[in-house]
Amino acid sequence: MSREDNIKILQASWVLPISSPPIANGVVILEQDKIKAVVGPEQFAEQYPQLSRASATNDHDATILLPGLINLHTHLDYSNLYLFDTDSEFFIWINKLIKSAWQWNEDDFRNSALSGARQIALSGTTCVADSSYTGNAAWALAQTGLRGVVGLELFGIDEDEAENAWQNWLTKYKNFLANACAKLQKDIAEKRILITCAPHTPYTVCPSLWQKALAWTQANGATLLAHIAESQEECQWIAKGNHKVDAFLASVLPKGQAEKVEKQSWRHQGLTPVAHLYKHGLLSENTLAAHMVHATDADLSLVAQQKTKVAHCPRSNSRLRNGIAPLNKMLDCRISLGLGTDSLASSDDLNILNEARFAWNLHRAINPSFSPSAEDEIYFLTLGAAQTLNLADKIGSLEAGKLADIALFKLCHPEEGEARRRTSHFTEEPYDQLLFGQNQLQDLYVAGEKIVCNGLLQSRSDQPLAADSVQNLVCG
Ligand SMILES: [Zn+2]
Repeated sequence: MSREDNIKILQASWVLPISSPPIANGVVILEQDKIKAVVGPEQFAEQYPQLSRASATNDHDATILLPGLINLHTHLDYSNLYLFDTDSEFFIWINKLIKSAWQWNEDDFRNSALSGARQIALSGTTCVADSSYTGNAAWALAQTGLRGVVGLELFGIDEDEAENAWQNWLTKYKNFLANACAKLQKDIAEKRILITCAPHTPYTVCPSLWQKALAWTQANGATLLAHIAESQEECQWIAKGNHKVDAFLASVLPKGQAEKVEKQSWRHQGLTPVAHLYKHGLLSENTLAAHMVHATDADLSLVAQQKTKVAHCPRSNSRLRNGIAPLNKMLDCRISLGLGTDSLASSDDLNILNEARFAWNLHRAINPSFSPSAEDEIYFLTLGAAQTLNLADKIGSLEAGKLADIALFKLCHPEEGEARRRTSHFTEEPYDQLLFGQNQLQDLYVAGEKIVCNGLLQSRSDQPLAADSVQNLVCG
């Protein structure tokens, strides 16, 4: 095989490298799983005379090409519990959600996770951070060809049982790796899928158990995934107690455990969840905290000081009536963050561009003086998100040597057609077009492997799967 056989040429009306300005009529050259070069049309002709644009794999008219998008908070396991009972109060909702999923068998979880992973790919996302109750999210990512950081969830609020709970998690982790299918084992070996630990929340994981999880992730160079300060009730329970959280715990824990924990020394210290974690040495640089809705100014100073990362999930926070996270203050504190959709049990869809559009509108409405640009929002979905996962040296921007995780969108103006497209200011503002225009995913690459082609999901055995059949699977 000659060297040229390993080369792919992609072209677009706009190439958005993210780490450098947009390139009109740009070309991205891939070599095997990596990006070889990102160039403009003149540079391409000068520097690569042996390659021809005619040999490009795609039609470049009215297209935007950028790094694959990153969704920082999902639970693919729950994809088939679409907007599950979201009119209930938050702790009743969680209780019902868990009880419902407890009825599922392995195939139910797999079908659910797979439908979620397929929707992720078809929306232009190449990488997710997922907290998984069963680990089937990782299996689904491997079937679909996506990249991901999957945290096997950890629970245990009784300090006296922390060591047992930790040993149980380690056993679950080892069994998970041993029983993984061949595709998943290969993806784990190649670090396309990273398996980590996900202590659920400060009200379901006691400090000494959280400490074991943190030490394990630090020793393994992994990102710890958690939910922090999502609801007002969580804050009250950590500070002084809350009867709604007590009722939830009494319902899901073994009999008597919730009452026993009431008396443990870490309870009722008058602290916020963030201050509670900080007090126990559990706010860390390798922690990605989902939600952070109820973070005070003092909390945000601690988060910034400890370099803890945040996944902002505005649609789920809104759907579950948990409030609005202080995004402007997080950015003022220079906290590293990105966006997450959360699961389909609390979000309209898994499309992270829709999440960013919602965030842009929401924060503009509540704080007129704070207006992130479309470019800022796309940064949160690409390089900004990669930094929160400590993966910015590999993904998140189009640069020579980085992995070829790439999304190509077709720009659409179906009602007004070609004339509007040629005159619209959107054609001059690719970030605006991507965030606010009507776009369709055309192609998606993960490590140079094409997993969506002309809007059709490719199975990893190369059988195309129509978007319609995915939708049927979701609804059914
Ligand atoms: Zn969550």
